[in-house]
Amino acid sequence: MPTTFQRARANERMLAVEEAQEQVLAAVAPLPEEEVSLGEALGRVLREDVIAPADVPQRDNTAMDGYAVRAGDLDGATQEHPAILRVIEDLPAGSLANRSVEPGTAIRIMTGALMPDGADAVAHVEITDAGRETVRVYQPIQAGTHIRRRGEDMLAGDIVVSEGIRIGPGEIGVLAAVQKSVLRVGRRPEVAILSTGNELIGIDEVRTPGKVVNSNAWALEALVREAGAIPRPLGIVRDTREATIAAFESALASDVIISSGGVSAGAYDFVKDALDALGAETKFWQVAMKPGKPVVLSTLRGRICFGLPGNPVSCMVSFHLFVAPALRKLMGQTTDILPPAVSVRMAADMTSRGDRRTYHRVRVVARDGSLLATPMRAQGSGVTTSMVQANALAIMERGVTHVEAGSVLPAVLFGMIGQ
Ligand code: AMP
Ligand code: MG
Repeated sequence: MPTTFQRARANERMLAVEEAQEQVLAAVAPLPEEEVSLGEALGRVLREDVIAPADVPQRDNTAMDGYAVRAGDLDGATQEHPAILRVIEDLPAGSLANRSVEPGTAIRIMTGALMPDGADAVAHVEITDAGRETVRVYQPIQAGTHIRRRGEDMLAGDIVVSEGIRIGPGEIGVLAAVQKSVLRVGRRPEVAILSTGNELIGIDEVRTPGKVVNSNAWALEALVREAGAIPRPLGIVRDTREATIAAFESALASDVIISSGGVSAGAYDFVKDALDALGAETKFWQVAMKPGKPVVLSTLRGRICFGLPGNPVSCMVSFHLFVAPALRKLMGQTTDILPPAVSVRMAADMTSRGDRRTYHRVRVVARDGSLLATPMRAQGSGVTTSMVQANALAIMERGVTHVEAGSVLPAVLFGMIGQ
C-alpha cells in the first residue's frame, strides 16, 4: 500500500545530479559577514578585495647572498683571470647601504637586502672567492642577474586576494605581508544534525540485537567541520511524525538543517511529512544516482534543509555532492564550489546494475603521471568501511553495467590524491 507521499509524487521526474546541484545553489545566499583576526582566518571565506597598499618588494633587492656589482666590471672574468673588486661595505638584509657601488668596487650583500645605488647585478657567492677586503669574481654576469625587482610580487593598488576566495595558508601569508591583521569574512554556518531512526543508539550504549550505532551523526559532524562550518548535533530522533516535527522545529535555530534517514518510502519515514507539516517548500526528494537516491532538499523559514539518506555511505556521498557546495556558497565562496571531476584510470573491473548513475568509492593515487583509481572492496551503500581511505567517486553512467580495468572514467574528488 503506497503512502500518500509515494502516490503524490510518483510521477515526478528524478532530477539529474547536476540539476539537483543547481537547485541547491539556487536555494542559498551568502550569510552576513563578520570581522576576524588573521590568526582565525584559516578556512574562512574572504568577503572583501584586499589591495596592496605599497609595492612589494619595496625596492629592488638581492635574491642571493653575494656581491652587489656593476656587471660591466666583470666582463671577461675567468677562473684564471678573475675580476678583482674592492669590498666597500657589508650589507645584511634589513640594512641600507651608506655608499654606492663605484667602478671597481662591490658591496657584500645578503639575500633580501636592498640593492645599493650604482650596482646593477649580484654576483652570487658561489662564483667568487667570498673575499672580505677584496673579492675575486670568476665569471661575467649580465646586468639584472639575481635582482628581485621592486613590485615584482605586488604593486600598490593590486588586488592580492579577491573576495570569495577560501583562505588557505598561501593567502594567510599574503594577507600578513600586506599587514592585513583584521579581515571581513563570511560567517560560518551553524549546521544542525538530526539522526532519525528507532534502531539507533548512542556511541556508548550497549548494542543489543537490531540496534545500530548512530555513526552518521559523527561522520556528518566531521564533514561539517571539514567544510569550515559549525556542527550542532541534536541527537537521535525517534520515528514518529510528532518527534520528527519537534526535532526540525528545534533545529530551526541553526542556519542549515541536515537529517539522516527517514527519507525513503517506508512506513517509518517521516522526514518529508514533517517538513510538509512545518510548511517547508520541497525542491526535490529524489536524485538519479546510486547511492543516495532519496535525498530531500527543502527550504523552511529561510533555512535550507537536507534530508539525507540513512545508509551511511549514501549519507556521506550526498553530503559531498549537495551539502558541501551549499556550505561553501553560504560562507561566500564564489569559486571552486562544486567538487571537481578528473579522469582516472581504473585499476580493477567494476560492475553496476545500470539502472542509475552510480558513484563508486575509489582511492585515487598518482601513478606514472596519471591518476589510478582502485575501487573499494565492497560498494554497498551500508558498507561504511568503503569510505575508509576513499578520496573520490568514480562515475558509471546509467546503462553502463561493466567497466574493465584500464578504462578511463570521470571521478569526483573529495580528498587529497594519494600516493
Ligand atoms: P533509512 O534511510 O532511515 O531507511 O535508513 C537506511 C539504513 O541506514 C538503515 O539500515 C539504518 O539502520 C541505517 N541508518 C540510518 N540512520 C543511521 C545513522 N544515523 N547511523 C548509522 N546508520 C544509520
Ligand atoms: Mg530510518
